[in-house]
Amino acid sequence: MHAPATTHRRAALALFALTTLACGGALPAAAQTPVLNLYSARHYQTDEALYANFTKTTGIKINRLDGKEDELVERLRNEGTASPADILITVDAARLEVADSLGLFQPVQSKLLDERIPAHLRTPTWAAFSTRARVIVYNKAAIKPAQVQTYADLAAPAMKGQVCMRSGSHPYNLSLGAAIIAHEGEARTEAWARGLVANFARGPKGGDTDQIKAVAAGECGVTISNTYYLARMMRSTKPADQAAMNAVGMVWPNQISWGTHVNVSGAGVLKHAPNKANAVKFMEYLASDEAQAYFANGNNEWPVVKGNVAANPTLAAMGNFKADTLPIGELARTTVVAQKVFDRAGWK
Ligand code: FE
Repeated sequence: MHAPATTHRRAALALFALTTLACGGALPAAAQTPVLNLYSARHYQTDEALYANFTKTTGIKINRLDGKEDELVERLRNEGTASPADILITVDAARLEVADSLGLFQPVQSKLLDERIPAHLRTPTWAAFSTRARVIVYNKAAIKPAQVQTYADLAAPAMKGQVCMRSGSHPYNLSLGAAIIAHEGEARTEAWARGLVANFARGPKGGDTDQIKAVAAGECGVTISNTYYLARMMRSTKPADQAAMNAVGMVWPNQISWGTHVNVSGAGVLKHAPNKANAVKFMEYLASDEAQAYFANGNNEWPVVKGNVAANPTLAAMGNFKADTLPIGELARTTVVAQKVFDRAGWK
């Protein structure tokens, strides 16, 4: 899903060259195009259109450096005050928290962001621009939906040998763990994780799509996945994906308690941003109707801006659900505790 390392290096060199040029003052002011230097750990090709539209609307050129989250964070730490980066955009509250806890972001005051993004989906230093839900996917031949209505159900003895999961260290699962801790407490979350591990059909491996495919193939009965991976397979014209989708069903977990865990894609303005005004413009652009539509249609995520109905038939077909409204900043901070809980429970 991530671009190969060679591509990263090439992108890095390109950005470096541009930065050197800008700092060196080799060009007269009039010839300089306004720029935004974007570090992106979003791994979705459809984002190209999202960024191209920003340049078209504002005239601000985007120099984008794609990389894995930990590589970008390490780079930002090394660059320090000399960093050319204005914005870090990534997925998952756990990852945004890593950057935030290292002090990489700076607070942004924007009336527009405050008005458009619901309070529980922003923090003083970063904001969410799209949401994805973490849902239960089951094999229709092996499991009845009534058996798997909650995250807790997957840890019950009835699911022995039925559960496939990706790594407990992955941010998507850490954020889910953080939500369970926030609602149920650390002790109950640890008991849940132990029950889940005891029910594994096999050791954790692969990504969310691999879990869905394993469930479809009958290797296991049930898993947890982000909604956009399901939506992607639902929209796929490949016969294998269509067959897989016919074999599985989806459940919105925890509808009669605290709601389905929802994670985000988000961004923040970096502390040493050389183009801060452009960075704020970019954040505000991400909350615009146009950008919100790109999130909905490009990567099958839900817009965060109220009243922005996703004009996406696949998302619409999934129906409505009750989403957890835990403040995203609190969720993010608790992911650190979730990792310790999962380690103790043996969820590798
Ligand atoms: Fe993903």
